[in-house]
Amino acid sequence: MERRSRSAERAEVNRNVRKAVKRFDRPELGNESWDFLCECDADECKDWVTLTLEKYEVLRQADEPILAVGHGISRSELARRKAKKLADDAKALRAQAEIQTKRAGGRKLSDDE
Ligand SMILES: [Zn+2]
Repeated sequence: MERRSRSAERAEVNRNVRKAVKRFDRPELGNESWDFLCECDADECKDWVTLTLEKYEVLRQADEPILAVGHGISRSELARRKAKKLADDAKALRAQAEIQTKRAGGRKLSDDE
C-alpha cells in the first residue's frame, strides 16, 4: 500500500482551504490572507504559511510547494506531488466536463453549433 506523506496530506488540506474560499464566490477574498499548512518534508511540521489566495494560486500553477521560511522539500517528494497534481487535474477536468454535460442536457442547444 502506498504510504501518503504528511507533506502530500498537508497539500491536500491546502487545496481544500482554497476550494472552500472559492465557494464563497467573492473575488475580493482572493486578496485577503489565508493560513495554509507548510508542505515541507518534516512529518512533525505544524507551521502555517499566510498567503493571499492569489499568491497560493501562483505557487500552485508553478508546482511550487507552500513552505514556511527555512523549510524544504526533497526532490522525490516534489516529483510525487507533480504526479499527484496531474492526476488531480485530470480528475477535475472530468468532473467539470460532467457538470457541463449535465447543464447542457437541461437546455436545448442551438442548431448552428
Ligand atoms: Zn514545514
